[in-house]
Amino acid sequence: MRILVVEDEPILAGQLRQALSDAGYAVDVADNGRDAYYLGEVEPFDAAVLDLGLPLMDGLSVLGKWRGVGRTMPVLILTARDDWHQKVAGIDAGADDYLTKPFHMEELLARLRALIRRAGGHADAILRCGSLALDTRSGRLTVDGRAVPLTSHEFRILGYLMHHQGEVVSRATLVEHIYAQDFDRDSNTIEVFIGRLRKKLPAGLIETVRGLGYRLAEVR
Ligand code: CA
Repeated sequence: MRILVVEDEPILAGQLRQALSDAGYAVDVADNGRDAYYLGEVEPFDAAVLDLGLPLMDGLSVLGKWRGVGRTMPVLILTARDDWHQKVAGIDAGADDYLTKPFHMEELLARLRALIRRAGGHADAILRCGSLALDTRSGRLTVDGRAVPLTSHEFRILGYLMHHQGEVVSRATLVEHIYAQDFDRDSNTIEVFIGRLRKKLPAGLIETVRGLGYRLAEVR
């Protein structure tokens, strides 16, 4: 899962990048509205955290323009304390949730998880597929109730596939959703990670769809 963080305050932006990376997300950061709009328009993010007070273009305009060009990723806005007008305007402009500064990082992480889950049509924090249960809060995977350790890249790939069960997911899509933009992306590594995941999962669960990509079998 890949998150766009838009925050012009360097310390907070750094804290967000760190906390989200630690939670297993690929993270891109923009420190002004113009870059934010551009990135959000061209890159496929799974969610965005958007500060409203930004240089070059304010957050509400960024959000309105994203929605105007059909970008539907969940957006959590960060608003100034006690400014309820901003919250109302943000929600009207297409925000899915808001947090008031200062906030607790744990709350931001919980709200983001919920937004990403709902966008994928999942109500529960634990994603399930047959005998697999992936806890999106802790990153813990169990297979038949037995804990199976995952590396952070394995977690990102499996998380993405579990959010998109039954869909064919191309290698290019996986690359875009598990790496940030400035990362040295190599789609061949995806094959390596998939190979390692398959060794940890029940046989046949991750199918290869020739020429198209991978599909996590939908098992109820
Ligand atoms: Ca700001």
